Amino acid sequence: MAHSIRKVAFIGTGIMGAPIAGHLLDAGYALTVYNRTPEKTDSLVERGAHRAASAAEAARDADVVFTMLGYPTDVEDVYLATDGLIRVAKRGAWLIDLTTSSPQLARDIHDAAEAWDKHAFDCPVTGGQQGAKLGTLTLIAGILEKDAEPVRPLLDTFSSKIFWFEQAGAGQIAKLCNQVSLAASLTGAAEMLALAEQAGLSPQLVAQMVGEGMGGSAQLSRVAPLALEGDWRPGFLAEHLRKDLALALEAADDLQLTLPVTETSFNLVDMLCRVGGSRKGTQALALLYTDEPTSTAAGLDWSLADGDQQDEIPPSPARQRYFTGTKDL
Ligand code: NAP
Repeated sequence: MAHSIRKVAFIGTGIMGAPIAGHLLDAGYALTVYNRTPEKTDSLVERGAHRAASAAEAARDADVVFTMLGYPTDVEDVYLATDGLIRVAKRGAWLIDLTTSSPQLARDIHDAAEAWDKHAFDCPVTGGQQGAKLGTLTLIAGILEKDAEPVRPLLDTFSSKIFWFEQAGAGQIAKLCNQVSLAASLTGAAEMLALAEQAGLSPQLVAQMVGEGMGGSAQLSRVAPLALEGDWRPGFLAEHLRKDLALALEAADDLQLTLPVTETSFNLVDMLCRVGGSRKGTQALALLYTDEPTSTAAGLDWSLADGDQQDEIPPSPARQRYFTGTKDL
């Protein structure tokens, strides 16, 4: 069956989506791309992808549609709006969401797809921008391995490992577990650098020592060199980590579980976002521990610190539309 998959659509060609789509192109699939900001598809179009004018146009003929969007609200709109994927994709098509998004939304999309004779599953990723470029991402799939067999060759073009969590939404829950652990090591790395610096030690040397010992982590290895160089450009946007931690806290709350370290990490990342760091990389968390002239020179504005806290993922009208009148779409 896999050999019959030729036409692939990719929606959301940002930091992660563009290199992932590039691997599908390199593997010889006929690729149609769509991104809200069209210029972000330019490099793929130059390499032979077809550019669509809307998500619906991209998906209409595709055997497989990948989405790599920013927020659950984006996912809801692209899948569940009147001209969303659930309705416009062809019967039997595969709809694979790579976005880090809401577990409940993933279950809703899966169920809606079944009702419309399509296959949908959540498949968030980890491995960062570098993993996307190298095609070595780890995939966290909310489907049985045997059920995903028809699309396995496509997943293999951009991953080196797939964990199968077997149920719709379970991929997203597992990804949130990853983010909970990531946030603790990220804040640990930022605080380690602050303590070393304040104590008059070489932060480079301390980072090297910690990295080679039991205090090391993937976050420390990635974040410390960037923070020490003052490179705040995004590989992983601070506002996306903020979204992930809000989702993790929401999931924990539903399970009557308290995650105090994650709450603290959320508050720190939220502060970074509120003072102008939302579009910086997560390594910019280290700026919260620097003096004001340093953080201001890096583009933060502490006068914004008392602004409104946005601690909820905003609801999407598309989802309401879909679930209040399913077959009315
Ligand atoms: P990004 O660069 O912001 O990419 C998201 C893309 O989706 C943007 O290009 C955006 O378009 C597009 N988009 C959003 N809504 C759309 C819509 N309705 N129609 C068409 N295009 C739409 O972010 P990213 O870093 O690639 O991350 C994508 C997702 O992966 C996030 O959920 C993130 O949490 C997760 N993730 C990121 C990393 C990482 O290291 N970066 C690692 C693992 C997982 P615009 O350009 O118009 O905004």
